[in-house]
Amino acid sequence: MSAALALERTAPLYQRVKSVIPPIEWPVFADDIDAILALKRSRNAVILAHNYMTPEIFHCVADIVGDSLALAREAMKADAEVIVLAGVHFMAETAKLLNPGKTVLIPDLEAGCSLASSITAADVRLMREKHPGVPVVTYVNSSADVKAESDICCTSANAKKIVESLGTDTVIMLPDEYLAQNIAAKTDVKIIAWAGHCEVHERFTAAEVRALRTDYPGVTILAHPECPPEVIKEADYTGSTSDMSNYVGREKPARVVLLTECSMADNVSVNHPQVNFVRPCNLCPHMKRITLPKIRRSLETMTHQVTIDPALAARARRAVERMLAV
Ligand code: SF4
Repeated sequence: MSAALALERTAPLYQRVKSVIPPIEWPVFADDIDAILALKRSRNAVILAHNYMTPEIFHCVADIVGDSLALAREAMKADAEVIVLAGVHFMAETAKLLNPGKTVLIPDLEAGCSLASSITAADVRLMREKHPGVPVVTYVNSSADVKAESDICCTSANAKKIVESLGTDTVIMLPDEYLAQNIAAKTDVKIIAWAGHCEVHERFTAAEVRALRTDYPGVTILAHPECPPEVIKEADYTGSTSDMSNYVGREKPARVVLLTECSMADNVSVNHPQVNFVRPCNLCPHMKRITLPKIRRSLETMTHQVTIDPALAARARRAVERMLAV
């Protein structure tokens, strides 16, 4: 495939992302994008991309984009034989749980998550021993092993609804301590938390938010609920990545800050060129392991296939499906 041909074929895609990708960088991406689009057809594959993927992945090769909940839902509907998960490992596991008969690929096996790795299945069993009879609500940012020990899953978008759906006065909520504290502030249900943190969101501080307000008068500040509670208190709005994206589309703030992973503002800004994005952000090193060359290689070699022990998968699937039914 000649480089010139790849450039010609991908030219319409570049028009979409030219506000966030300089022209000098595009030739580096064009060949991989052209090859990936051809591979998707020949492999009957779809690419599911999280909101934290870089724009050349998010806007140029992905078939389905969104937050963890959206990807889990769409993974269920995907009728392709192969799913490539452009995101981190627990997301690929969730896609596999919901599509046991399909081939699910993750382009880099090392794409992990500080939150997911903060807790093990044995830890969940210990929490249950310590709090007998208290249901366990587990954030989808967790391994299949941990989901299998849980009563139900939640995402940052539906956590309050899930906690309140159980009809108990206390729940155990794992593994994100700040998400648990932020939900506890909004519900009468008592929440027992685990001390796991997202290494991207835990770094935002209230002082940083106050400085943004001073430096950019009138700015609208949106925060992800994995941020510490003192950051949430200073923000104008709290929501999942999809909620933030919808907020920008709905409210069209003149100037906005998204307190979340760096690529999110790039991806949202492509669809809202009239909005001015202030971009203080923290990079997720795990998400950034997924690149176009790795997606291409994943489809060429059909690696790395995600496998989960069927008995464990059945238990983990029950927790995810129970969430999707709420
Ligand atoms: S952004 Fe945070 S929660 Fe998401 S994958 Fe990275 S470390 Fe995990």
